[in-house]
Amino acid sequence: MPDELDARLNRIGQHAFRAKFRLRGRDRAVVDLRGITTVRQHAEELIGRRLAPADPRNDGRQTPYRGHPVFVAQHATATCCRTCLARWHDIPAGRALDEAERGYVVEVICRWITRQYAPHSPPP
Ligand SMILES: [Zn+2]
Repeated sequence: MPDELDARLNRIGQHAFRAKFRLRGRDRAVVDLRGITTVRQHAEELIGRRLAPADPRNDGRQTPYRGHPVFVAQHATATCCRTCLARWHDIPAGRALDEAERGYVVEVICRWITRQYAPHSPPP
């Protein structure tokens, strides 16, 4: 029985653009080598710097398509920019994210990454 967050990820994943994203290659290797706890710290840093400000730099184009597992997860989960965050996660643009919202975005990203692994062999 999926919880609320899984249900939301399932809904977002039905969108053709979001469904294209998979964690593979070097981006997946980062998780395999460094572990999900470290990747979660990266997510906290990246979100704090690139998404959380009231007016993020280059908003709408600030998230590369590869180069870090968090970036791939952001596109897959519609947490890539403030427009997507508002549309898909009901977090309004135009003001800084608060602590709870930052935590929520990090959780969404890490949940998606974990779901890219089989249930019986989760990321290290
Ligand atoms: Zn976006």
